[in-house]
Amino acid sequence: MQNASDLPDPAPIVPEIAVPDIAVPEIDAGLRQRVQDAALLRTAGRIARLGGWLIDTAHGRVYWSDEVCDIHGVPRGTSHALRDSIQYFGPGWVQRATDMFERCMRDGTPFDEEMQILTADGRLVWVRAVGEAVRDDAGRLEYVQGACQDISDMKVLERSAARLAARLSTTLESITDAFLMVDRNWTLTYLNSEAERILQCAREEVVGMNVWERFPEAVGGPYHHAYKKAFETNAAVSFEEYYAPLKLWTEIRAYPSEEGLAIYFLDISERKANEAEIHKLAFYDRLTGLPNRQLLLNRTEHALALCQRVALPGAILFIDLDNFKAINDTRGHDKGDILLRQVAERLLGVVRASDTVARFGGDEFVLLLEDLGSDDVEAAAGAQEMARMVQQAFAAPFDIAGVDQYSTPSIGITVFNGGSGSVDDVLKRADLAMYQAKAAGRNAISFFDPHMQARVSARVALETDLRHALELRQFELHYQPQCAVDGRLCGAEALVRWRHPQRGLVSPAEFIPAAEDIGLIVPLGRWVMESACLQLARWAAGERTATLEMAVNVSAFQFHRHDFVEMVLEVLEQTGAPPAQLKIELTESLLLKDVQGTIEKMMRLKAVGVGFALDDFGTGYSSLSYLHRLPLDQLKIDRSFIRDAFEDGQGVAIVRIIVALGKALRMAVLAEGVETEQQFALIVTEGCQAYQGYLFSKPLPADALAEFIDGLPARETSA
Ligand code: C2E
Ligand code: MG
Ligand code: MG
Repeated sequence: MQNASDLPDPAPIVPEIAVPDIAVPEIDAGLRQRVQDAALLRTAGRIARLGGWLIDTAHGRVYWSDEVCDIHGVPRGTSHALRDSIQYFGPGWVQRATDMFERCMRDGTPFDEEMQILTADGRLVWVRAVGEAVRDDAGRLEYVQGACQDISDMKVLERSAARLAARLSTTLESITDAFLMVDRNWTLTYLNSEAERILQCAREEVVGMNVWERFPEAVGGPYHHAYKKAFETNAAVSFEEYYAPLKLWTEIRAYPSEEGLAIYFLDISERKANEAEIHKLAFYDRLTGLPNRQLLLNRTEHALALCQRVALPGAILFIDLDNFKAINDTRGHDKGDILLRQVAERLLGVVRASDTVARFGGDEFVLLLEDLGSDDVEAAAGAQEMARMVQQAFAAPFDIAGVDQYSTPSIGITVFNGGSGSVDDVLKRADLAMYQAKAAGRNAISFFDPHMQARVSARVALETDLRHALELRQFELHYQPQCAVDGRLCGAEALVRWRHPQRGLVSPAEFIPAAEDIGLIVPLGRWVMESACLQLARWAAGERTATLEMAVNVSAFQFHRHDFVEMVLEVLEQTGAPPAQLKIELTESLLLKDVQGTIEKMMRLKAVGVGFALDDFGTGYSSLSYLHRLPLDQLKIDRSFIRDAFEDGQGVAIVRIIVALGKALRMAVLAEGVETEQQFALIVTEGCQAYQGYLFSKPLPADALAEFIDGLPARETSA
């Protein structure tokens, strides 16, 4: 074993440089003075770690200022032979320094270099070495001078900044996200290679461009809004968006800063496509492409929820192919598949865009029909109509691989509304109805509720008859006298009746809604207006009837037509009826729609003297906020309040309120449906000005009315 002391000294990491300590020889006094002058700058030099040096070229010696000595780690005042001083340059730098000094001394080439020196105490120090030649008046090179500055601190900073920048750009290049930066003027300042790939553009091309000039399709769209928001709120934004020009789904995260916006993004087109595919598999039938059972359940649930809120009924049609099993068995499953696909197409051809056609399973299809009308009967009629259309769609044979194949559907219908229970309940009802249809002999339509079926049949029959009633002159007008509380006859309300050949006199309550549905209300309404005005004109000519008023009911559909006012003016002109004795009865629901337009129409008619009454007042959704704006002359208290006045007592309060309201709004009040003396006494006490009802007279045909008037004492018909 060797003793530690036997070991040779470890080689120094940095080779030591022997610094010859030579006494300063006599030098030119002028040169010495220059060195002294430089000393004045010592303080500044110390702060900047900057010193001066000078080479006496004649003697080949170098003189360093104190600061330069400090930088080299030698005692102040040290001077070297030029050759030795060059040895202070660090490993690898000596040759270069030698060349530099030689060239400067030979032909005066100045230098300014950053190099490393190795100090006497073995430190590697970065310095900036600057040198220049000084010439005498004759142009001869006299000496060389320069400066030396310790720049190691700066070098450290510079290097770490460079390292950071390099690391950043390597990071931005290597991350899987695409990355780009825009400044606050929307100029693109950086783009990594993934961004180049996704956006299909080269960095050199787009950096420096305005981002919206480069991607003009995005201006005003979701990207634009999101980035603007990020700037405005100074908060990061993240979102998913489709960029159509590149058929690209992107996932974006953008972070605002002083410099601008750092935008990270991913191409998620594949994920989106997968999601769409998964959605399709989960919710659509593979064979027909129709919504599957699951999607149907979802949509039905949604429809039921909606029904509860808006109270518009819908229907489910459950369709089963009658002979499908036989086709499958005899012609093979592939042919069965072809049939199912064609059935799907035909069903799609029948429904409205808002309806759902779903394949429920096997040969079962379901139609979900929403928003089918305002009540269950109307919805049922609509559903039955649709079922008929489905039957018709099956009338032509299907072309199955060149062979005609007939098929028929059995259809079960159930109507649903807000209170129809769960999705399961509703579908079960439609399914049961479908089995009924099958039992009834196939290719049949069956309702879950047999009463519904009867009502629908009646409604359909009514509509069919109604279409011809006008041309067959089956309508007649009856007139119900209206009487002032002092017993004086003041006019009559025209009420239409339908004299049906089989059913006798049909009430307007039954056929007016149907007439509105099939659009018959417009010609019927005109006929009523004409007949009533003719009668009014006749009254005007009669001595005892000259001042009587005629009230005519007008339905919303009729009133909201663009030519309603013209129609009334035309009828007045044709019949010669006095406009000031015509009173149009409107209902509250009619006024709810387009209040402003309603007021304008009323004002145009008021201008010629026509009056207005609000019918069935109190049963609708009267809003006091618009009531006072309407140019109404009369409020008619609905007969239900008069009927109930003595049953629950509430009617009395309502009559009182309506009379008070009429007073406040300067409208006369007429009570409808007055049947008893007790009711009459009530409305007189409460302050109604007029009434109509069975107590005074039922509605009467024109001739009966004439007799009725003739029978009245003379004072009861004069104005
Ligand atoms: P309305 O305008 O409120 O007419 C009053 C209804 O009450 C009439 O029924 C009338 O016969 C009935 N009535 C009158 N006095 C009494 C009474 O003392 N007791 C009872 N229980 N009832 C009474 P109607 O004739 O069946 O008419 C029903 C509704 O049909 C009318 O209600 C009106 O809204 C509508 N209507 C009638 N004619 C027409 C018309 O020409 N056009 C339009 N659009 N609707 C009409
Ligand atoms: Mg009326
Ligand atoms: Mg009424």
